[in-house]
Parts: sequence; C-alpha cells; structure tokens
Amino acid sequence: MLFSELGLSDAIVRAVTEHGYTTPTPIQAQAIPAVLAGGDLLAGAQTGTGKTAGFTLPVLHRLATSPTNPTGSQRPIRALILTPTRELAAQVEESVRLYGKYLPLTSAVIFGGVGINPQIKILKHGVDILVCTPGRLLDHMQQGTVNLTHVEILILDEADRMLDMGFIRDIKKILAVLPKKRQNLLFSATFSDDIKILADSLLNSPAMIEV
Ligand code: AMP
Repeated sequence: MLFSELGLSDAIVRAVTEHGYTTPTPIQAQAIPAVLAGGDLLAGAQTGTGKTAGFTLPVLHRLATSPTNPTGSQRPIRALILTPTRELAAQVEESVRLYGKYLPLTSAVIFGGVGINPQIKILKHGVDILVCTPGRLLDHMQQGTVNLTHVEILILDEADRMLDMGFIRDIKKILAVLPKKRQNLLFSATFSDDIKILADSLLNSPAMIEV
C-alpha cells in the first residue's frame, strides 16, 4: 500500500513523501479512506501508531478540495482539533503545517498557560484549522473572540485523556455551539463507559477502526 493509493491529493502525497514516509501505517491505511468518505469515525489507536497523520491528511484533503466562500474578510474555522495537552496540541499543529505545506490552508494552535492577546489577534485574522486544548478554547468562547459557526470537521484526539483530565464539561459546551451538520472523528486509546457514552452522543453511524 502506498500513500498515493489512498485517494489523497498530489500536494499532500508530495509533502508526506518528502517528509520521508513511504507506506501508510495500519491506522492510516484504514482511517484515511474512511475520513475521505465524509462520515464519522471512531478510532482506537495508541500514540505512536501514526494516528496524527491518520486524521490530518484526510482532513487537509477535504478542506482543500471543498473551498468555502467566506463572505467577510475573516477566514472561518473549518476544522477544529481538540487535544488534552499543550504539548500534543503543538505537535498536532506542526503536523498540519508540515503535511499541508503545499496547500493554501492556514492553521493555528491555542492553549492555556500563555498570554491570550496574541491568540485573539490570530483568531481575529482567522484560520482554516484550529488546534486547541478545551479550557482555553472555552475562554475564547466566553470572551467572544472565537467563531465556531463554520466548523465542518471536529476531531477529538486522545479523547480518553481529555475525559481523565476532567474536560468533559468544557467539551460539551464546545459541542453545543458547533453546527449540527459536520463530520466528527474521535480517537481514543481506551474505551471506558464514559468514552462510549461520549461517542454515542457525538457520532452518527461511525466507521469503526481499531489497531
Ligand atoms: P503519532 O502516533 O501520530 O504520534 O505518530 C508517531 C510517529 O510515527 C511520529 O513520529 C510520526 O512522524 C511517525 N509516522 C507517522 N506516520 C508514519 C509513516 N507512514 N511512516 C513512517 N513514520 C510515520
């Protein structure tokens, strides 16, 4: 199996190949076609399996192949990626930049523990893909400095860790403001009852994969 056989655009395959990847990992081989098909996804995958590229590559492809026509000057946030920690958020956004380097898409990372004003400036300008930790995103929602009304794809990365860290209330508040019609991807290493409840309430007939 080659990256070029998964249905990804040449610009993405080129970035991935230049980065030194030759073959997709098992999670990528399964997740990429499932996400490209446009439906929801429930994926069981540990860190180290290549799950980050498993969702960033097809998300980049979907956004790049269905451009929006924003009416204002601000770029609407089209993909929202939630992660449990700042480190993971930064890492995921780095992957988005790397794999999307030949695409006309922009991204930003937002997390707590640092000044909020530079983030407000970035959000005002607008980005296509926002990677963030739930707490700081909620701060921006409460201040009215982020607009999530155009989100087409929501990704919960390491959802089990987010629940362990007590983010379920924040996540629910975030879900409540997103458009109803959207694609949802949930990645988790473990499947407790709480994760199953979250998955049931979030996902519509998801494709299910486990590696
Ligand atoms: P992740 O599970 O997403 O944190 O990725 C784990 C590591 O595997 C990262 O260092 C990636 O750069 C690397 N990786 C991801 N996909 C591939 C691939 N298809 N071939 C080789 N390495 C990869």
